[in-house]
Amino acid sequence: MKPNSHIELMHCPHCHSSLTTQLKRATSLGYPTFYCRECLSSFNEGTGTRFNFLEVFTDIVFQVLMGRLRYKMMSLRDVADFFLLRGCEFTHETVRHWEERFAPLVTEQLRAKRRGTMGRNWHVDETFIRVKGRWCYLYRAMDEDGNLVNSLLREQRDMESAQVFFEQALEMAQTPPNRVVTDRLASYPRAISEVLSEAVIHEPGSCLIIPLSKSIGGSNTAIIRPWALGRLSR
Ligand SMILES: [Zn+2]
Repeated sequence: MKPNSHIELMHCPHCHSSLTTQLKRATSLGYPTFYCRECLSSFNEGTGTRFNFLEVFTDIVFQVLMGRLRYKMMSLRDVADFFLLRGCEFTHETVRHWEERFAPLVTEQLRAKRRGTMGRNWHVDETFIRVKGRWCYLYRAMDEDGNLVNSLLREQRDMESAQVFFEQALEMAQTPPNRVVTDRLASYPRAISEVLSEAVIHEPGSCLIIPLSKSIGGSNTAIIRPWALGRLSR
């Protein structure tokens, strides 16, 4: 975010006191700074957040993330080159650093917006894929309209993985589904009945092919970025 001409006094991020004063000096990017009369420390809008000490405006960082999230064919270098045309100079390594640092925050925000919005009929499958050189199982659940309910990367395809997957799906959906169609994996019936509810109808179907792109944001490419799917858990 660029510096705002309309400044409201901030509560101190260190002691949460409201006894703060705006200082005359600004940060190198022009953001206002404040002083806390309670704990005698100075701070700015980014203090105490992951956005502190950035060398560019935060809206530039979000535009970079947008480029990488929305246009998956753009490489790290493509994004850095594109912003150089606009007069913003940073390396592809910086783009990588921002992506690792901030993309999980964006992913979590998107998950929060999706929470509780999915349908009551789920299709579940798992795919064996390679992420960052490691083979793992990508569990996915979609509702009847093709909306993503949950995705999870696991190294093992076992009962524990299925249970963790359905726990997360239930947390996202807030309500158990009426029906779950699966690809007949042996661990699903018990995991569905124990984690979701015994009342949920389990319908073993034929192997369902959910396009990989469906679970990573709707692009036609199958590039997998681990943070878009959640942390790989064993
Ligand atoms: Zn303070």
